[in-house]
Amino acid sequence: MPKINENYQNLKESYLFSEIAHRVDTYKKNNPDKEVIRLGIGDVTKPLSPAVVKALHDAADQMGKAETFKGYGPEKGYDFLRNAISDYYKRNGVDVDPDEIFISDGAKSDTGNITDMFESGNVIMVPDPVYPVYVDSNIMCGRDLTYIDANADNDFLPMPDENVHADVIYICSPNNPTGAVYNHEQLKVWVDYAIKNEAVILFDSAYEAFISDPTLPRSIFAIEGAKKCAIEFCSLSKTAGFTGTRCGYTVVPKELVFKASNGKEMSINAMWNRRQSTKFNGTSYIVQYAAAEVFTEEGEKQCKANIDYYKENAKIIADTMTRKGIRFFGGVNSPYIWFECPNGMDSWELFDYMLEKIQVVGTPGAGFGDNGKNYFRLTSFGDRESTIEAMKRFESLF
Ligand code: PLP
Repeated sequence: MPKINENYQNLKESYLFSEIAHRVDTYKKNNPDKEVIRLGIGDVTKPLSPAVVKALHDAADQMGKAETFKGYGPEKGYDFLRNAISDYYKRNGVDVDPDEIFISDGAKSDTGNITDMFESGNVIMVPDPVYPVYVDSNIMCGRDLTYIDANADNDFLPMPDENVHADVIYICSPNNPTGAVYNHEQLKVWVDYAIKNEAVILFDSAYEAFISDPTLPRSIFAIEGAKKCAIEFCSLSKTAGFTGTRCGYTVVPKELVFKASNGKEMSINAMWNRRQSTKFNGTSYIVQYAAAEVFTEEGEKQCKANIDYYKENAKIIADTMTRKGIRFFGGVNSPYIWFECPNGMDSWELFDYMLEKIQVVGTPGAGFGDNGKNYFRLTSFGDRESTIEAMKRFESLF
């Protein structure tokens, strides 16, 4: 009998979205005439942009002809896409070499798989509340976690405590679930702390395309020194509606070198390359070809139009909270609005109350960590009409 990975027994039941679905289904069964509006799930609703769809067709045609057919691709991804991403960084004032870019099938796999680079025994620091993948992927390999509190007192942007050591630090900005975004000065403090502690920052920038304030950093590599201490994960899921198409990229700088216990200098870039070429056979050519279109002038314009649409939804939600005097975070450079549950309710009470009274579904903050238990997440990924209707109903309730 194989000895199974016992760590899986330490995972909390992943019941957030299934519990939401269960409560909504029960409600709908008992109230078939009521129209339920979902502002809970972090999936996009707008279709792929025409430029991307055309590229998907073109690439499919290439695969059907002997002269242009493609089999296994280069391990790190095609040059044309890595060069396009490197140029995109350059346009945003950040220098990233194509050799530092690894194409993936999305940020979830890479943020989960990066645990392969680090041994047990590290102090792994994650904020609470947090995107659950960081927590569960570490528990799966038996790692303990050190939580840092994100709360209203620090605007859900926790800063390092100089007296607490960390080896691996997870940062997500713009943040899921809180919508909070670190500024340059705050990220510089994290980078300095990481360098001092010889730590690595795992920076998730999946929502960078939602930043429209030019003073806010869209990449950790906009911060001096970050190349010595950070890995960045990004995704086309929210930037270009690729949640069902699947493409992301991870930047592992060449400068990121740590000493092994035998004294040998180990390049994380080389280790990640080895890991990926052993366990991953690349994102499909068709998807990479279409992904490159996202970084063309026309592709970027079309994707931005969708993001602007979601951001207008976010503004409609945020303005409603402001009118009602409800404290909230995010909603400006982020698709998420994270608000304090009114009238002292906890997040599941508010979930049931909103479902029962106004048929609007959101995500209880408790699902993202203890510090979320009195908060609620709404997303701007719905369509305009239902967002407006949901907020009209919300205004009538509080
Ligand atoms: N990182 C964060 C913070 C997310 O919220 C999500 C998706 O919701 C992901 C990564 C996963 O993105 P992908 O679709 O590229 O796997």
